Amino acid sequence: MIVVMENGAREEAISKVVEKLEENGFLIHLSKGVERTIIGAVGDKSRLADLSIEAMLSVDRVINILAPYKLASREFKSENTIIKLGDVTIGGEEIQIMAGPCAIESREQALEIADIVKRSGAKIMRGGAFKPRTSPYAFQGLGEEGLKILREAGEAYGLKIITEVMEPGNVEMVAHYSDILQIGARNMQNFPLLKEVARFDKPILIKRGLSATIEEWIMAAEYVLNGGNDKVMLCERGIRTFETYTRNTLDLSAVVAAKQLTHLPVIVDPSHGTGKWKLVGPMALAAVTAGADGLIVEVHPRPSEALCDGSQSLTEENFNKLLIQIKKIANAVDREAVQ
Ligand code: PEP
Ligand code: MN
Repeated sequence: MIVVMENGAREEAISKVVEKLEENGFLIHLSKGVERTIIGAVGDKSRLADLSIEAMLSVDRVINILAPYKLASREFKSENTIIKLGDVTIGGEEIQIMAGPCAIESREQALEIADIVKRSGAKIMRGGAFKPRTSPYAFQGLGEEGLKILREAGEAYGLKIITEVMEPGNVEMVAHYSDILQIGARNMQNFPLLKEVARFDKPILIKRGLSATIEEWIMAAEYVLNGGNDKVMLCERGIRTFETYTRNTLDLSAVVAAKQLTHLPVIVDPSHGTGKWKLVGPMALAAVTAGADGLIVEVHPRPSEALCDGSQSLTEENFNKLLIQIKKIANAVDREAVQ
């Protein structure tokens, strides 16, 4: 349920509504927009009728949000959420490119890729240290050593970094090194993990689960928002369908839907979304056209030697070619990309 206050409602009137709702067991989330304040109240709806909130001073209206997600909804917050990370903004006019290897393999590899990413104009480097591999025999990532290397590479080249955290017990450690925490597709409904990352003052990127509906994906974001962290972004990375030619089916309609239903930035991962490097560029362009706020792309100087996901990784040359096209598409949809 949300309470929409009148334009220019005074602090005192807002506090009175908040107090009344809190006294009656509602959990409150305030959204102070440019024009009006919206009070999100999560709790027992049946008690609401007796409270006469609508009759209180400066209350414009009370709206029952029908969707199961409340804080993530456009009703709760009509303006786009813009996440600020130093001088980098996600969800604003600029389309953010996050690029790097699937996995951090060595210090040399990470520094070489950080150099490629920096020279491309992108501002965020990706790289996995804890890898959720289907096979227990596959390379599992370098763990904390990988995080140290990624941090060093980010600092050496002035790039923000994003990496996956797989378990609640590791969040503190990963947050110590990384600017953004990534929740992997396989962990989208790991609720203890979602609750734990919500405790940290770091942006969280939530990848859509392999067979998650759009609503389930947004509910994962709701967990983090409800836990007190409002720096949440969604990431479409392809879903399971009957198709086997591609690794996953990149659902670009989900990007449009998520932008309409929520105020959160939406990022697209065309690498895992297709599994084939030749498809990555065109799908990245389609994603920007569909309204994505950013892309997360796997880049490797020698994809054939990559320890993980080489077949979907772009070479430096192909990555830079793609960025030239992304700039053109960004202009066409009134956005900006890599200067
Ligand atoms: C990744 O980005 O490294 C990754 C494992 O992605 P996903 O969780 O989408 O499979
Ligand atoms: Mn990968």
